Amino acid sequence: MTPVAAIKKRVSLPLEVIAIGEGTPSDDAITLSKPIFVGRGELDYSCGCCGAVLCAGMEMGRFQGLDLKCRACGATNRIPTATQEPGGIDR
Ligand SMILES: [Zn+2]
Repeated sequence: MTPVAAIKKRVSLPLEVIAIGEGTPSDDAITLSKPIFVGRGELDYSCGCCGAVLCAGMEMGRFQGLDLKCRACGATNRIPTATQEPGGIDR
């Protein structure tokens, strides 16, 4: 038997930036910036401007339509609705 549930595949999804923040964040600010929400899902929402993780471990469809302000760069990001898929898979 192989333990398959041990490692969860994480998906990172850059959010749509609806307002750019003031100034440019340092690499430290981006690295040290803690997620605003932490869950147990597989999806990480990252800032579409600087790449800092805003929400870690989300499930698809959580907080959809919510606007989040990035703590690192100050940009306002919008969480997509559940109809959009991570990775932009074409069908
Ligand atoms: Zn940012």
